[in-house]
Order: sequence, then structure tokens, then C-alpha cells
Amino acid sequence: MTATHRGRFAPSPTGRLHLGNAWAAALGWLWARSQAGEFLLRVEDLDTARSRTGLTEALLADQAWLGLEFDAPPVFQSRRLDLYRAAFERLRATGRVYPCFCTRSEIARAVSAPHGPADEGPRYPGTCLALSSEQVEERARTRPPAWRFRPREGLTDVHDLLHGRIVQDVAREVGDFVVLRNDGVPSYQLAVVVDDAEMGITHVLRGDDLLRSTARQIQLCEALGLPVPVYAHVPLLLGPDGKRLAKRAGTPGLAELRERGIAPERLVGLLAAWAGLGDGRPVDLQALVPRFVLERLPREPIAVDPSRVNEALFGPG
Ligand code: GLU
Repeated sequence: MTATHRGRFAPSPTGRLHLGNAWAAALGWLWARSQAGEFLLRVEDLDTARSRTGLTEALLADQAWLGLEFDAPPVFQSRRLDLYRAAFERLRATGRVYPCFCTRSEIARAVSAPHGPADEGPRYPGTCLALSSEQVEERARTRPPAWRFRPREGLTDVHDLLHGRIVQDVAREVGDFVVLRNDGVPSYQLAVVVDDAEMGITHVLRGDDLLRSTARQIQLCEALGLPVPVYAHVPLLLGPDGKRLAKRAGTPGLAELRERGIAPERLVGLLAAWAGLGDGRPVDLQALVPRFVLERLPREPIAVDPSRVNEALFGPG
């Protein structure tokens, strides 16, 4: 029987894994295992492939230390450019994409408020939509274009198992967004929908900072005729500065724990406490599987106190 739940962890290897990565990975894994499902790893290395090869091995070692097993060899985005290109060509055939020659500063100058979601910069004013084919040809001589997707008008419904129904007017709030950058690399939005569909991912659990991207991804799924996965966006761990927990906050990365011989059960105990699955005492990840209930996860950001984390991880057991 093939599993009816297949989840994934999709880190961008921009640095060593930290507690926030362990949180998302462990929750995704627990959800999949509690549903007798499968769990896959995708390394989102489109930007980092050349310079960061060693990071991937470290990432795999960190995962194994935590006790996560995956049901297939890892998938590397940097090795799948042909797949994204083919999806882009399918989008192009729908007439929903157009070349854009604008630089960031041109867009910033052309735009007055309101601003779009931070990850896309200001809402694109549509400058290049009006170019004639002669103009496109002429500009392409000096600068390769990025390609933008024209979202359909109206509200896009996002159904999230933790946040309920959320609607976004992508055309108004985000505008035409980039699917292929001018260096030929697909944007995160395109790569993620192509990969999730190709890997047969049915359930996506990830940080709720990506909730604002989900409507764009659903629109791309619709345009490409791909299935839309079930979504659950989990709260982020926040450091004392109220920002997403980072190394600066004074909490250790997984590599440090591993190298110092700390038992992974200590970290899992902490993660379990944040997820409402335990009292903070060390626990084996496997032991949490029968206790995991997605709907009981917190919805609000989790404020992490670094001194308590360090005490729990390094203090007398
Ligand atoms: N690579 C993204 C990140 O590390 C996650 C992408 C996703 O889960 O859709 O934030």
C-alpha cells in the first residue's frame, strides 16, 4: 500500500541547522509518522550549491543525530534545473508569463505605496507588461529578462489545518511575481510547487512565515495543473529580540550539540515541550509518534529563553 501522507523537510542550506530547523523538521516527521506516512528530504540549494557543498553532508549528519529517517535519498534542487525549465515552458505556453527587464531600483522608483509582501519587494507595477515585441527584442540584447507570472484576479483560498481559511488577493497584494530569474534559476515559488508535485508530497508542514507565499503557490499549481497539497503552517521560534531564533540569540546549533556529545533526547524533550507534547524532560523522538496530534500544536509564536534552553541542553541531566 502506498502511504496517503507524504511530507517533506525542505531546508535551504545557508548555514548549519539551528533549533528552528530542528523544530520544523521534527514536527513534519512526527506528523508523517503519526499518519503511517512517509517523509522526504529536499535540499533547497538553488542559491548555495556551488559554494556550500560541505554543508549538505553536515545537514544530513545533523538530521540523523536528531533521529529523523527519510524514506528516499535526498533531492537536491540544484540538480533539477531541467524539471523547472520544463514547468516554466508549460507556464509560458499558457500565456501567463512575460519577460521583465526591470532592475530592483527601477521597480522601487516606479512604485509608490502600498507595498507587497516583503519577500517580493514592492508590488510590481507591471511596467514590462506593456512592452511591444520589438521593445522586448531590443532590451534582450543588453540584459536577459526575468519572467513574471500574472496571477488571476480575485481571492485565492488557502486552507491551513492550523490557521483555518485564509484568503489573499494575489494580483492586488503581490502583483505579477517572478517565476524565472534573469540568471535562468527558477524562483523559490516555482521550484517548490514543481518539486512538491514531482515528489508526490501530499502534506506540507513549514514555518508560518511562508503562509504569505502559499496563495502564490496555489495559483502556480492551478496554472500547471498540479495537485495542491494539504498545508499546516507552524509557529516560529522567536529569540529574545522577538525575531526568528538565530544563532545570535545564544542558542546552540545541532552540530555543536552533536560534537559535544549531548544526547539528542534532550533537544527532543525541549521541542516536545514547545509543541505541547511533553514536560521538557528528555524523550526519544520515536516515543512522541503516538502522542502527536497536529491540531494541538500552538498557533502563536514561541518565545524561547536561551538561558533555559542552555540549561536544559547542557545542565546536569
Ligand atoms: N527552503 C525553505 C526554508 O528553508 C522552506 C520551503 C518550504 O518549506 O516550502 O525556509
